[in-house]
Amino acid sequence: MPKKIQAIRGMNDLLPSNSEVWSEIDKTISELLLSYGYKYCRPPIVESTETFSRAIGEVTDIVEKEMYTWKDTSGDSLTLRPEGTAGVVRMMIEHNLPREGIQKVFYDGPMFRHERPQKGRYRQFHQVGAEVFGASDAKIDAELISITHSLWKKLGIDVRLEINSLGSSESRSSYKELLQKFLNQNKSRLDEDSLRRLNRNPLRILDSKNQEMTGLIAEAPKMIDHLDEESKLHFSILKNYLDSLGINYEVNPKLVRGLDYYNKTVFEWVSNDLGSQGTICGGGRYDGLVEKMGGNSTPAIGFAIGIERIALLINDLKNRIAKNKPHIYFIVLGEKSQIESMRLSKKIIEALPSLIISNDISMGSIKSQMKKADKSNADFALILGEEELSNKQLSFKPLKGQGDQQLIKLEGIIQHLQEIL
Ligand code: ATP
Ligand code: MG
Repeated sequence: MPKKIQAIRGMNDLLPSNSEVWSEIDKTISELLLSYGYKYCRPPIVESTETFSRAIGEVTDIVEKEMYTWKDTSGDSLTLRPEGTAGVVRMMIEHNLPREGIQKVFYDGPMFRHERPQKGRYRQFHQVGAEVFGASDAKIDAELISITHSLWKKLGIDVRLEINSLGSSESRSSYKELLQKFLNQNKSRLDEDSLRRLNRNPLRILDSKNQEMTGLIAEAPKMIDHLDEESKLHFSILKNYLDSLGINYEVNPKLVRGLDYYNKTVFEWVSNDLGSQGTICGGGRYDGLVEKMGGNSTPAIGFAIGIERIALLINDLKNRIAKNKPHIYFIVLGEKSQIESMRLSKKIIEALPSLIISNDISMGSIKSQMKKADKSNADFALILGEEELSNKQLSFKPLKGQGDQQLIKLEGIIQHLQEIL
């Protein structure tokens, strides 16, 4: 027998048994964003490598070691997107969209990073992200946080919010020097990763997951104590909004986020139930990025949600979804009933699209079909045998104790379903 082919490690199948949960998550997120006036957009999954290296920054984990990059047959360097913001920014600039006024958009789909696969960390994973272009006001920062806050409520997820400010690029570069000086004075306490980052991206050292670095990081000077006046004001306005909205948060001075492009507000929603893969949503302001990517200076901010991690947190959603859609199992006996059951199913679905109908095709005995109906967890069975057919009737049988079996006229079935559902 030929050898079985397997999927690539870290790139998972979404199995049919899990797809309802995913659709429900996607639907919940997109309905909420649409309600807030965000419009869906879809940049391609493959972009020129420069889109990402320029946006994300050369000295970041993603660009240094996580991207899937190759040369196509014309010699162009292409990359499977590791995140969504870079492509959306490229799209905004290419189509001149911010010129038409404030842009509120969202996207979804697969992202690709060559990481070490583990629970909550994959090589192909999925994000839904939202971005706003053309608004510098802290009200928008608050709106994005407020949307995500409502979302966790809708999905029944328990998470905490961490926020920080990274200041302006000027205040950050003087802070960077201060931090570098401190870290150089304590070089003997740095681990290998941090030594590598010391000169090129010292801020990332604050983000270290190495427990042994915790003490040193706690002693290091904090960006939040060295903010420029404008960023300080922006941050206090944001906190004021969050207080008024009743959204709890914790200011985490170590929160720097992995990507280069952020300034001012950064935030993360973190769950305690996913170990070190606890961040389910990360976001921040990136006022300098549009210009850096070749567009006109445009303030911008966004977030991205990791859908796999949300799905891991939602255990009871499956039951909640199952309750939503009434399910009918169509038991069919005898050759002649096959066509009529097919015709009737089509009519029922066209009239009542929120139903699920499973048509039995086994031609088995009534007993065996009944067993399958119960196993499918259907709410009702329709039974069409030759005798019913010749009387232009079918049997309607509730399967979950909702009353007795009854005979119904074929042409009356839609009305009957409408009445009881
Ligand atoms: P982490 O610190 O967990 O590596 P990150 O800072 O690299 O996260 P972002 O680039 O901010 O993550 O992406 C936003 C969200 O996408 C994350 O909060 C997470 O929920 C999800 N995510 C990121 N990388 C992965 C991955 N490899 N597998 C699954 N989900 C991921
Ligand atoms: Mg990462």
